[in-house]
Amino acid sequence: MKTVKKLICILSLAFCLASSAAPSLISNNIVSEASAKTYNSTTIANVQKKLNKRGYNCGSTDGAVGKRTKAAIKSFQKKKGLKVTGAINKPLLKALNVKETVPSKSSNSNEYIVYVTDTGEKYHRSGCRYLSRSRHPIPLSSARYTYEPCSVCRP
Ligand SMILES: [Zn+2]
Repeated sequence: MKTVKKLICILSLAFCLASSAAPSLISNNIVSEASAKTYNSTTIANVQKKLNKRGYNCGSTDGAVGKRTKAAIKSFQKKKGLKVTGAINKPLLKALNVKETVPSKSSNSNEYIVYVTDTGEKYHRSGCRYLSRSRHPIPLSSARYTYEPCSVCRP
């Protein structure tokens, strides 16, 4: 039983570290899984903005890869010595210094559950030692309004 608790603790810590410290690491993983990847309109619009700024005319920054955007991407790729694909890919984003906009997981983080106690003014992650007496699950989003994060379990 003890090892299970330990494992849960490690897992939740790893989750916390991954979600806060390494967003680029996560997107790298996604890319390696799907090579023929489509980018969302925000990312595309950012690419278009940057290309326009550099004098590669994409037309309007509508967030969709049309003929002009494709042509602009191609000439940029040529100029930069990248593989000329006419499509947005990782090297292109890097060359343009565009951060890929990953669909937000706000719906998930809203449902992230933390725990408060009868008496305390802090909120905790499940498994924190301060939860031994009482624990009431509440969503993290509302806990942030009225409680402070515990300094021991750092939810
Ligand atoms: Zn705690």
